[in-house]
Amino acid sequence: MTNVPDDSSIQLAERVSATASLCEVVTATPLCTSIYELVLSGNATTLAGVPGNDVMIRLVDAQGRFVRRRYSVRSLDEANDQFTLWITVDHEGPGSTWVKSATKGELVDVIGPRGKVLLDPLADWHLFVGDASGLAAFYRMAQSIEVPAKAIFIVEIDAADDALSAPFDEGLGVTGIFVDRQGRSTSDPEGLLRGLAAFELPPDLGHAYLFGEFHVMRVLESALLDRGLRQEQVSHKAFWRSGRSNADHGEPVKTEA
Ligand SMILES: Cc1cc2nc3c(=O)[nH]c(=O)nc-3n(C[C@H](O)[C@H](O)[C@H](O)COP(=O)(O)OP(=O)(O)OC[C@H]3O[C@@H](n4cnc5c(N)ncnc54)[C@H](O)[C@@H]3O)c2cc1C
Repeated sequence: MTNVPDDSSIQLAERVSATASLCEVVTATPLCTSIYELVLSGNATTLAGVPGNDVMIRLVDAQGRFVRRRYSVRSLDEANDQFTLWITVDHEGPGSTWVKSATKGELVDVIGPRGKVLLDPLADWHLFVGDASGLAAFYRMAQSIEVPAKAIFIVEIDAADDALSAPFDEGLGVTGIFVDRQGRSTSDPEGLLRGLAAFELPPDLGHAYLFGEFHVMRVLESALLDRGLRQEQVSHKAFWRSGRSNADHGEPVKTEA
């Protein structure tokens, strides 16, 4: 790789009002069964944006084609010009394969910041629902909540050690529910629906953030609207789709074919 981002990245970044940069891998380490932590350095403050934002990484797939994959920023270390991603590796794809072999000093073509789902500053409580792919965004967003407020996490996991925790401000009321998938299909919303049913929504103004599998996100959104939340109180984003690789631009495929 040269020492400038690929032309296609520079052009794409311009179109989406973001920045393309080459970053250097600082570390790539397994955190738990399903997640690797990747620390990148270079242009960190610009690329990492604000809580809820993600970056696009340009990678090569098994057929030698370039594809992009999107990962939420878990944290930003401005002083050291570094930012951290949590990348799920419990499946086979260009993103998961790459991070497991990423080495210190390797250059990565990154576009950021991306993403439109940000923290609702008016909400008294924030409900984060999804799977391990959402944890980085959930925790970074929750760490930016102004106290007093409540953060509730309902997250489906495949292995007990995927129940990662994070430090939060004193004064933030935190409830965490980890739901064991117990071998159910990754497109089965049952586990998260049960987790949601077990939780009584607080009475004041709240906002729900749903990040995870395509089919599951749709069902959860309906379930929350049925529970009385208004559409503007629910932000949802499909991060991936069961049985289908994300498209080359990094989004889950929306069509059935
Ligand atoms: C805005 C945005 C932010 C995202 N943030 C994160 C993040 O912070 N961390 C993160 O891990 N992912 C995140 N994702 C999801 C990630 O980009 C996709 O999961 C991506 O498809 C993974 O690429 P891959 O090359 O590993 O697998 P792909 O080639 O896309 O898929 C290969 C196979 O693996 C399956 N698969 C993909 N992802 C998962 C998964 N998480 N669990 C189980 N099976 C899966 C697919 O269904 C497919 O069958 C985000 C996606 C978006 C759109």
